[in-house]
Formats: sequence, structure tokens, C-alpha cells
Amino acid sequence: MSAGARKRRAHMQYGKAPGVQCLGKDRYHSQAAAQAAIAKIPGFARAYRCRICTYLHLTSKELRT
Ligand SMILES: [Zn+2]
Repeated sequence: MSAGARKRRAHMQYGKAPGVQCLGKDRYHSQAAAQAAIAKIPGFARAYRCRICTYLHLTSKELRT
């Protein structure tokens, strides 16, 4: 695949492909690391396991039930 084609493909998939929403987020390897970050940043309520990248992300949103 040429570099140009790869670029177009990436652009097309932006916002659709699973994984792209992870790229700008902090990721944590463990609950302990995530909890330590949460403690430092008021507003972030919890960590959740991302099923896309399998790391933990932080969110201030409540779990929807
Ligand atoms: Zn993720």
C-alpha cells in the first residue's frame, strides 16, 4: 500500500474505526495507577477498562445504568 492510500484510508476511518477515540486519552496499566491519577485530578470520578485498547481510561461521567 502506498503512503498516499494509507493516508486516505486513515482519514476515511477517522471517527468510525474503533480505537481512534483512545488515542488522545491517558491510559493506565493498572487500577492502582488510575486511582493515583484520579486522586490528583479533581473532577475525574473513575477509571474504566477500555475494551478497545484494554487499558484503563479516566472519565468524569457516571456509569449509565
Ligand atoms: Zn482505549
